[in-house]
Amino acid sequence: MDFLTLGIVFIFGTIIGSFLNVVIYRYNSGTSPLTGRSQCFSCGKTLTWRELIPVFSFLASRGRCAECHVRLSWQYPIVETLSGLIFVAVFLLQKTPIESLYLLVIFSTLLVIVVYDMRHQIIPDGLAIFFALLSLSWFIWSTPASFERLLHFPYYWTLIAGPMLFFPFWALWFVSKGRWLGLGDGKLALGIGWFLGATLGGSAVMLAFWIGAAYALIIMAIQRIPSIVTGHMSKVPLSMQSEIPFGPFLILAVFIVYFTGVNFFDGSVNIFTIL
Ligand SMILES: [Zn+2]
Repeated sequence: MDFLTLGIVFIFGTIIGSFLNVVIYRYNSGTSPLTGRSQCFSCGKTLTWRELIPVFSFLASRGRCAECHVRLSWQYPIVETLSGLIFVAVFLLQKTPIESLYLLVIFSTLLVIVVYDMRHQIIPDGLAIFFALLSLSWFIWSTPASFERLLHFPYYWTLIAGPMLFFPFWALWFVSKGRWLGLGDGKLALGIGWFLGATLGGSAVMLAFWIGAAYALIIMAIQRIPSIVTGHMSKVPLSMQSEIPFGPFLILAVFIVYFTGVNFFDGSVNIFTIL
């Protein structure tokens, strides 16, 4: 594996990442991500090719618009870098070209969902359903049903993994009338079940809850520090009632489980999947 090839793969990934940024901004806004040049959101200046080089342009302009000097969002270089890393990771897996393409589309969709959920506190139906249907179609296509397979329970196990992971989210949503979480997390879990299968998918959901709980505890602890120092509570205290988007934790867990193979149900870790 030479570094030049990995570098080229990374750069290609960052270019796709800057397209994903456009998708995130224009999704549900009525404008196509494929038409029109990108503009500064503050002064409307059309960006030149010099200002459209992924990551580099942001660093070169120190994160400001060349025209009006308004501060640009860190979302741009972060999404571009993550996209580059996803491309490198998928490349290192050395799957067939068609499976690599499938994985890139899956992970790019998940990356768009994470950022969209963090910005708008909602997981768009279209993206969650696209992820679920793509995972299911890939499973059915890449694992053709044969007579022997139909007699083997594990085949159905992955087919029902989607609905199986969807159900607890739906139940929480139904019982709380949507106050604890949105149904978007459930739709995402549906796709996670079909993408990872039953035990890995279940592991990802469990891991997401743990990461989410750890995050909430850390944030609550940090917010107590000013109250200890000054005697005043912070302006926006986070409590257990606060809504934290859960989608990013689910997706972070999917990435961890996919690339490490950590499986809480059979106790195995296959961290060398990509090596
Ligand atoms: Zn500007």
